[in-house]
Amino acid sequence: MREVPVVQKVLKANDLLAEKNREEFARLGLFVVNLMGTPGAGKTALLEKTFDMLDLNAVPSAVIEGDIATTNDATRLAQKGVQVVQINTNKFGNACHLDAGMVQSAMEDLDLNQAKLLFIENVGNLVCPAGFDLGETARAVVLSVTEGEDKPLKYPVIFRSADAVVITKSDLLPHLNVSEQTIKENIGSIQPKCKIFTVSAQTGSGMQQWLHWLVRHEG
Ligand code: MG
Ligand code: ZN
Repeated sequence: MREVPVVQKVLKANDLLAEKNREEFARLGLFVVNLMGTPGAGKTALLEKTFDMLDLNAVPSAVIEGDIATTNDATRLAQKGVQVVQINTNKFGNACHLDAGMVQSAMEDLDLNQAKLLFIENVGNLVCPAGFDLGETARAVVLSVTEGEDKPLKYPVIFRSADAVVITKSDLLPHLNVSEQTIKENIGSIQPKCKIFTVSAQTGSGMQQWLHWLVRHEG
């Protein structure tokens, strides 16, 4: 029974750092998206397509990339002409989520004075990233159609905290016994106020609506 106060202490310390991050993001005029979702949901592919389609001169962008190990995703994104810094949580006890302190230290390796948009790609996980405020402006949960229809019902906490849900891999829908409508209804039953986008990073379908949301909010 001693575990609960310890967890509360950790979260309280995190909240203080998150508040500092939020102040810094506001000072820089940054729109900061905490991108969350399971491993393989297509978070990095979504960012690759986002940077392919976004006018990066008008909306300079940066990424803090969270993974337990490897710099694979950071390498992919650096090729798109954005600033990227990798956090490997195997240096932090293999944490399965990012926390505000990790984000704060990653920011030291980015020059964000010109940037308007910062993505924080969280560690692939539908559970504990929801509990850690990073100081972000908005939370987006990435959910691929291959994950089935009921993830929002099984993992309500993360969906309840979402400002947007991006349903990815929509080009695979014809091959699956999955209804886009049912996925949307399940998201809506947990978080009726969040924006829902259905996209394919392969074909570009639905990407414009996602880009509009990002650009409308930045700055
Ligand atoms: Mg990734
Ligand atoms: Zn975790």
